[in-house]
Amino acid sequence: MIDSLIKFLDSSPCNFLAVDTARRLLLNAGFAERRLADSLADVKAGDRFFVTKNDSAIFAVTVGEKAPCETGFKIIAAHSDSPCFRVKPAAEIPGEGGVLRLNTEVYGGPILYTWFDRPLSLAGRVILRGSDALHPVTRLLHIKRPLLTIPHLAIHFNRAVNDGNPLSKQRDMLPIIAILNNNLEANGFLLRLVADELGVAKGDILDFDLMLYDTQGACRFGVNNEFISSGRLDDLSMAHAALMAITSATDTQATCVAAIFDNEETGSGTKQGAASPVLASLLERINGAIGGDSERFAMAVQRSFMISADNAHAYHPNYPGKYDPTNHPSLGGGPCVKINANCKYMTDAHSAAIFRALCDGAGVNCQYFVNHSDVAGGSTLGNILTAQVDIEGVDVGNPILAMHSARETASVADHEAMTRVMTHFFTNV
Ligand code: ZN
Repeated sequence: MIDSLIKFLDSSPCNFLAVDTARRLLLNAGFAERRLADSLADVKAGDRFFVTKNDSAIFAVTVGEKAPCETGFKIIAAHSDSPCFRVKPAAEIPGEGGVLRLNTEVYGGPILYTWFDRPLSLAGRVILRGSDALHPVTRLLHIKRPLLTIPHLAIHFNRAVNDGNPLSKQRDMLPIIAILNNNLEANGFLLRLVADELGVAKGDILDFDLMLYDTQGACRFGVNNEFISSGRLDDLSMAHAALMAITSATDTQATCVAAIFDNEETGSGTKQGAASPVLASLLERINGAIGGDSERFAMAVQRSFMISADNAHAYHPNYPGKYDPTNHPSLGGGPCVKINANCKYMTDAHSAAIFRALCDGAGVNCQYFVNHSDVAGGSTLGNILTAQVDIEGVDVGNPILAMHSARETASVADHEAMTRVMTHFFTNV
């Protein structure tokens, strides 16, 4: 299980590659690839298929033996994106010092200084000229060798660096990619590099979505190998658990959906994000294909349950004052239910009770995360989704340390436990 997670993380350096990794995993498990742009009217009980949206969100479905109006839908939601740096257009910045930098923009909320002095590379998608203006061609790009680094200023120029060091995203965070010499033309450098990598003509590249990523892979550590260290555990670990659960769900009574959205880190407000109608309309189309009308769809929604899975904060022993005195989950203590009195999470006593009973059924310990009352905390997918479709659900996640660092830390046992709970939800209840 953990080897599979490590492989999943390493082949998913950004949202687009994560969806492609999920796509290949689903194809291997016998799921059919379908397109939202094509008719889904022939979908029938027992089908296992997936669709993608914008190459960066993916929805895997097993159609149940019973109609959704009888059983409701069972949904697990996670997200494909993680905080990172995106390359801006016209990115090359040649200058004094003889090195070429790339201009970037921060995506989401990374812990900036964890990105310094790492062997970074580029991944994302490149859009090529197609048959006509409305039909360009998408190619994925995953350059695996280290290409860039964001060098920190030497301590000799800032002796106070360890006393707090405010960073400018525009000045301090630009990566270097090459030493300039007579053979290296800065103008058009990046497009030439990308064209060479893909084996296409530079003139055929119309645009790109390229991100920086840490080339150092995921690994286990700890005296008993009990930890996992990787970039993007938030939220690819939950996406992986959801995919493990849906691929092992066969002959289910209810229709099950593993929904992996994009752009959670920037508020979910895109067509492939949780605030869009993409999931609600997919559920409606499945309901329609197997003979349900709008009344039956409304019944199905009221009988449905959703697990919104996004990581939680593990108790950090160096900062006890940041945590709630009685609800601070431990690494290795099992999946967490996330609770907020002001409804930043969709969890309530009824849905928390359902998740706890699922944990009991799977033989897994369950923990609770509540913010220290003086700490604002974050938000996640659950409530954003319910604005589109009013399904009952619970916000959960495994506890991790250093959320939004270039490398986060989680527990091996928790990943196995969450996968067991999700599999139990899809298969046994
Ligand atoms: Zn997240």
